[in-house]
Amino acid sequence: MKLHILGCGDAFGSGGRNQSSYLVEATDKLFLLDCGATTLPAFKRAGFDPRRLDAILLSHLHGDHFGGIPFFFIEFLFLQPRTEPLVIAGPQGTEEKVRALFQVMYGGSTMNKEIPPTRFVLLHPDETANLDGIAITPFRVPHQSDAISLGLKVGCEGKTILFSGDSLWMQRFVELADGADLFLCECSFFREQPGMHVNYQTLATDLNRLRCKQLVLTHLGEEVLSRRNEIAAVVAEDGMVLEI
Ligand SMILES: [Zn+2]
Ligand SMILES: [Zn+2]
Repeated sequence: MKLHILGCGDAFGSGGRNQSSYLVEATDKLFLLDCGATTLPAFKRAGFDPRRLDAILLSHLHGDHFGGIPFFFIEFLFLQPRTEPLVIAGPQGTEEKVRALFQVMYGGSTMNKEIPPTRFVLLHPDETANLDGIAITPFRVPHQSDAISLGLKVGCEGKTILFSGDSLWMQRFVELADGADLFLCECSFFREQPGMHVNYQTLATDLNRLRCKQLVLTHLGEEVLSRRNEIAAVVAEDGMVLEI
């Protein structure tokens, strides 16, 4: 199984990086973890046909994590129609926000425009959802005060990926990372600062307790990028392909 890093930047495009998106390529499945605004061009640059996409799993409903979905919708409406529904799974409010965003961006002025065939799946914290061979165990993470943000533990073809979503560092990540094949952990900052995000200095105090096979830091801001030579972990790059 491979994971293609389509976007490892933050909301601000720091370092010229794309917004959050990771493509999981399994033998039988092709799915995204998050879908920031820059995802469709990055997906095409990686050489994939959008019609092959089975599902988009969303950690939370900030624009740099779901703002790219309307571009996939217009791809399926105007360029490459699909018959099998695209599955979109995310926290409470996902269906309403995705539909509303599409209407704002590409809807008609008087009538709502139909979206392509889509099946929405609501993810509940600590309840495993099974989507045709993809097992998702979402868990709540501290990131937004007015909405639910999730981290995702995803199992597929015998492999496990732990994705932090956007979150403050929390001890639960240490437990959840135990035995994971890949821990994709956001690291927006190097030192502690305001904003509900991981900073490297805090994460570093737990580095030797993480028992995952691979740790990759992502969702990188300018300050952490400027100090990357002080980081004792793999730092993501757009276009990087990880063997899991
Ligand atoms: Zn973000
Ligand atoms: Zn966020």
